[in-house]
Amino acid sequence: MKKICLLGATGSVGGNTLDVIQNHSEQFSLVGFSFNQNIVRAREIIRDFKPKFVTAGNPQFAQDLKHDFPEITVFSGLEGLVELASTDYDLILTAVMGSVGLHATIRAIELKRQIAIANKETLVMAGDFITALAKQNKVPLLTVDSEHSAILQCLQGVRREDVASVTITASGGSFRDRTRAELEGVTVEDALNHPNWSMGQKITIDSATMVNKGLEVIEAHFLFDLPYNQIKTILHRESVVHSMITMKDGASFAELGANDMRQPIQYALTYPNHLKIYNKKSFDLAEIGQLHFEAMDFQRFPMLALAYQVGEQGGSYPTVYNAANEIAVSAFLQGKITFLEIEQLITEAVETHQEVTDLDIDKIIRIDEETRVRVSRKIR
Ligand code: NDP
Ligand code: MG
Repeated sequence: MKKICLLGATGSVGGNTLDVIQNHSEQFSLVGFSFNQNIVRAREIIRDFKPKFVTAGNPQFAQDLKHDFPEITVFSGLEGLVELASTDYDLILTAVMGSVGLHATIRAIELKRQIAIANKETLVMAGDFITALAKQNKVPLLTVDSEHSAILQCLQGVRREDVASVTITASGGSFRDRTRAELEGVTVEDALNHPNWSMGQKITIDSATMVNKGLEVIEAHFLFDLPYNQIKTILHRESVVHSMITMKDGASFAELGANDMRQPIQYALTYPNHLKIYNKKSFDLAEIGQLHFEAMDFQRFPMLALAYQVGEQGGSYPTVYNAANEIAVSAFLQGKITFLEIEQLITEAVETHQEVTDLDIDKIIRIDEETRVRVSRKIR
């Protein structure tokens, strides 16, 4: 029985993870989870999974749960995520939104637990630090992101030195059929209407700006230790090919399947094995009929070009890109800025960033915080 700790159980990846755990209850048990605001769902999860540890985002919710479920140890706040990561479990799956997952991920690596990362912002914010720490502690970083899971699946049985490049597919998000001029005045509702995937709000906006693909390029750099010129992106509107690798002799391997996050989640939990998925979504290539691929247009999607740039610059630049995006997306969702202002705020933050050298984790956290303050000041 593998004991699972799930950060962000009330979210989209969290819900899919609970489904995987429930469907393989002979193999997995949920021993701890965190949530932020959704106390109603948190109560249901407690009743269904009977965990030993829970972290609530706010202290009042923690008090309520302590009162109603005295058998459970309840933590709260950001420290509560680290306390949860310090409990007894085998694998932690990080599915919180944004860089709040950083400290808990660090603690789990220090404790040499298995790590399954959905929370890509953590890797982008502090990739050099996290990967070095994981190496030092001999902890493999398993990925839950569908594109990276596809690459990981393709890499099985392959000599790493024979790989020439990886290609990450991008659906193009909600506005893929609009020109840049047609992005003026788009609404939050339009942006949240993703053609292929049902996901949390932040990543859905990130898909529309193509920042998500930018974060994924940087994520691939850190997860697979690849230089940026070996990480390619291609527009593929059906999201059937989840990503691919190309070998030095030109042979390419891709992972294809239905758009069902339970597959990459389950693979991270059962790696390197593939188990049955219950109530699987149908996947029939004859029914799909045609697949489409287009070269990425970096002028149409400048945030992807900027991600390659900050990735190449390295150091504190990816931290700034990520922090600026988190603030900008939150402001857009609150109706405080327009869609195109997200891009402007990120670009300005990167352009005005003064490079910091000799980075350590404290400096990274400070740069993240300073960027958030800098970007917030520009928002009405
Ligand atoms: P959701 O918004 O659906 O869920 C986010 C989760 O994090 C919820 O449990 C939420 O709690 C919790 N949370 C939000 N803010 C905080 C905070 N400040 N402190 C503590 N917990 C918080 O997001 P997704 O599930 O879509 O995405 C989660 C992560 O996975 C992101 O990093 C995303 O990029 C990545 N990812 C998501 C995919 C998807 O299919 N959705 C695919 C690949 C990667 P509550 O709801 O209780 O407020
Ligand atoms: Mg993805």
